[in-house]
Amino acid sequence: MTAILYSENVSKQFGGMRAVDAVNLEIERGEIHCLIGPNGAGKSTMFKLIVGYHDPDEGRIFFDGADLVNVKAFARVQRGMSIKMQKPSVFKELPTRLNLHVALQQKIGKQQIAEEEARLLELLDLEEQADKPAGLLSHGQQQWLEIGMALALGPKLVLLDEPTAGMSDEETYRTGELIKRLNADGMTILAVEHDMSFVRQIADRVTVMHLGQVFARGNIEEIVGDARVGEIYLGK
Ligand code: ADP
Ligand code: MG
Repeated sequence: MTAILYSENVSKQFGGMRAVDAVNLEIERGEIHCLIGPNGAGKSTMFKLIVGYHDPDEGRIFFDGADLVNVKAFARVQRGMSIKMQKPSVFKELPTRLNLHVALQQKIGKQQIAEEEARLLELLDLEEQADKPAGLLSHGQQQWLEIGMALALGPKLVLLDEPTAGMSDEETYRTGELIKRLNADGMTILAVEHDMSFVRQIADRVTVMHLGQVFARGNIEEIVGDARVGEIYLGK
């Protein structure tokens, strides 16, 4: 088994509603995996279960060979998973560079921070924005900054919830290239995404969720070619 992350029959209810219903997810080490599905399918809830923001009602999640039951969210981050949540939450009053600095402080010593800060600013193409308050960056640049903050701890697995939400086509494409570069550097990526051309740009494999369950999985050609997947998006 080469999976870096997998879940076994994971469920989560809110009130009586099963937001995530017996989900088996499998993410292989080194891949870019996209999680897609209509609004309300349970994608963000699944992310929150993986990072430990919610506890599952049933089922288990394994990361890097270990069962995550009773492993708190901060300890999951220490073990090498990192998440960019759906809503951007950079520190808007702080300069871009300081946002990265704050994130880097959690892991490394003072001398290294400056080096790593410079590397991330270059990677994210935010060098010219480094001293601007993050709140003045474009929406797309704020999303990249937040991805950069998620990278600060040197994760093995990066979870991105709708990384291209609200972006222009150009920004979306550049986000895809950024994600592919991170993947080439050795990170496994799990991304929730709506934009199918973006999924086509980055995904090695795709899992489709619908009504809390895994509806389909496969490579992009299999998913795009599956008429049933088209139907759930049309609400049939
Ligand atoms: P997706 O990310 O696929 O759009 P979500 O995981 O956000 O879907 O939501 C799945 C379902 O669970 C939705 O019906 C949503 O309203 C519900 N839900 C999500 N989080 C909560 C919560 N904290 N409390 C109650 N219901 C929730
Ligand atoms: Mg969501």
